[in-house]
Amino acid sequence: MRRDFEMRELRPEEPADWRCPMCTVGVPLHFLAKVSKAVFAEVREEHRRRAHRHVSRAAYAVKLKAAALRKPAERMKCRVRMLNRHRARIGKHTTADAARPLPGNFVAFTWPQVLCRKAASKSGKWRLTLATAWRCRSCMGCWRHAKIAVAHKCADVVDRQSARAEGIRKARKLAASIEHGIDPAILAQTFDSALEYLTRATLDP
Ligand SMILES: [Zn+2]
Ligand SMILES: [Zn+2]
Repeated sequence: MRRDFEMRELRPEEPADWRCPMCTVGVPLHFLAKVSKAVFAEVREEHRRRAHRHVSRAAYAVKLKAAALRKPAERMKCRVRMLNRHRARIGKHTTADAARPLPGNFVAFTWPQVLCRKAASKSGKWRLTLATAWRCRSCMGCWRHAKIAVAHKCADVVDRQSARAEGIRKARKLAASIEHGIDPAILAQTFDSALEYLTRATLDP
């Protein structure tokens, strides 16, 4: 059997191509591309035989399928973490800001929205999105598109804070009723901070 890719213990936060649904063993990110599907299946089966002998091949297959279905939710969780880190970094207003496409006159934050799917599928009519948005430090205008944010003129910005706050409250209610896979605490924090960015007249930094 070829051993040019790794299956090993992964740290909880470590990005991975695959994780065993029953233990902490998995394949680190970018390693899966190195082998064929058949080889991967073989290595995975060997792992089951060694580590989870009490689980039949068929039962393990069911667990694998369930885990694969959860994957979009996992990705969403990763995205929330990533966005939070991104926001924290920008919030500190380090020298790295200077290298960013947006001038230091903006603060980045995560703007959660619940949008209607074009085609209502099995997974429901609504879909939660977490977009990166920017708030002008001078006029407090908020945009989801960097280009529009950069192009705006503070004097022309119409105050839409109350409408935005209403939108966030509605989205929050809807989000509670849909399948999104995000940790409730992380989501609550994302909504709280979005509400602050979208409504408060002044904000640090
Ligand atoms: Zn395992
Ligand atoms: Zn402005």
